[in-house]
Amino acid sequence: MNHLMENHFLNRIDAEALLKEYGSPLYVYDEKTLRERIRDMVNLLPYPWFGVSCSIKANSNLHLLKIVREEGMDADAMSPGEIFLLEKAGFEPSQIFYVCNNVSAEEMQYALDRNILISVDSLSQLETLGRINPDGRVALRFNPGSGAGHHEKVVTAGKKTKFGIQEDLVEDAKAIAKKYGLRIVGINQHIGSLFLDGKPYLESVKALLRIAARFENLEFVDFGGGFGIPYRKFHGEQRLDLKALAEQLAPLLLEFREKYGSDLKFRIEPGRYPFAECGAILGTVHAVKTNYDTKYIGTDVGFNVLMRPILYDSYHEIVAIRGGRMVSDPDGEKVTIVGNICETGDILAKDRPMPELKEGDIIGVLDAGSYGYTMASNYNQRLRPAEVLLTQSGDIRLIRRRDTFEDLLAGYNF
Ligand SMILES: *Cc1c(COP(=O)(O)O)cnc(C)c1O
Repeated sequence: MNHLMENHFLNRIDAEALLKEYGSPLYVYDEKTLRERIRDMVNLLPYPWFGVSCSIKANSNLHLLKIVREEGMDADAMSPGEIFLLEKAGFEPSQIFYVCNNVSAEEMQYALDRNILISVDSLSQLETLGRINPDGRVALRFNPGSGAGHHEKVVTAGKKTKFGIQEDLVEDAKAIAKKYGLRIVGINQHIGSLFLDGKPYLESVKALLRIAARFENLEFVDFGGGFGIPYRKFHGEQRLDLKALAEQLAPLLLEFREKYGSDLKFRIEPGRYPFAECGAILGTVHAVKTNYDTKYIGTDVGFNVLMRPILYDSYHEIVAIRGGRMVSDPDGEKVTIVGNICETGDILAKDRPMPELKEGDIIGVLDAGSYGYTMASNYNQRLRPAEVLLTQSGDIRLIRRRDTFEDLLAGYNF
């Protein structure tokens, strides 16, 4: 066992008892880890004009969102549904930023009715907003022409992505805003997800500041999320050096603020970082077989439970749980761990050295707190798992029940 894993919360729970009570598979979150990771972000820079919004598409469990709010984060919503949940979690309209793309006028109206600021990411959407909310406030999402991320599908800026307004349309955007009396109060970007080296982020900060300088009277500049976590923990992958990042970020912001000469605020929008490491999935091995040359470990953690591997070829460390402890074996037999969904791509991990696994064994999939449950589905009409929270006092709290068969009928109640 990697020494870093000694303190992992999976060593502090009774996995077998939890699966018995709540069913397998099961999402387990650790409150302590969640609060620590949130604080890493909130305390990144010590200035009152620096704020952190949580991008809740990474995890929108209502109970976790309440913790996010308690810890002093604001929030980004990508849809009316996320706005709805944020309100239920107690966020004020002024704490919510609607960062949408390609939405209807009705969706914009949903935010406007609640006095929630909208970021538009095309001139087309700016026109739509201007028509329904003349003389209102708006933020513009820019695409500085370069992006970064762990996979082509999560690079969200650059010349080949759908996001943002390109830089040379600044004057056109201003003209449309003027036509409708819209006040451009903020600009934002999000260049991509999961960087572990701060360089591309800092470059994008410079790019957005260059764009910000072309606007007067901005209230805020929002640099987006993307802060990575080390998924390959057993391979010595290093954490993102937040201290170094902060040291390089601070002077850029201080200098710009001085030049800009107003009470400008800066924000970041992490989604993955606060939640990823506080979450794990417990699952059960149901079958072991060798098909030709590959040994398959058949589990109940299909891509209806965790979609990241099939969607982005993502890597998650996987452990066996024995006697209440996490067990790994870097020299173990290489196996392919798969789920129970009828799709060839339903692979959790390929050629992974594991301790010997047999039917009935419990596995733990680490770092599944972000883009885990939020992407879970009922594909194959499987029931989405329950979610439980290991609280700071060491209790287990059910924070979302497992789906029931009745839930599969919810859309047919007419
Ligand atoms: C998804 C998203 C984020 C969060 O990205 P992470 O990589 O999870 O930090 C931030 N801002 C916007 C606009 C997003 O779409």
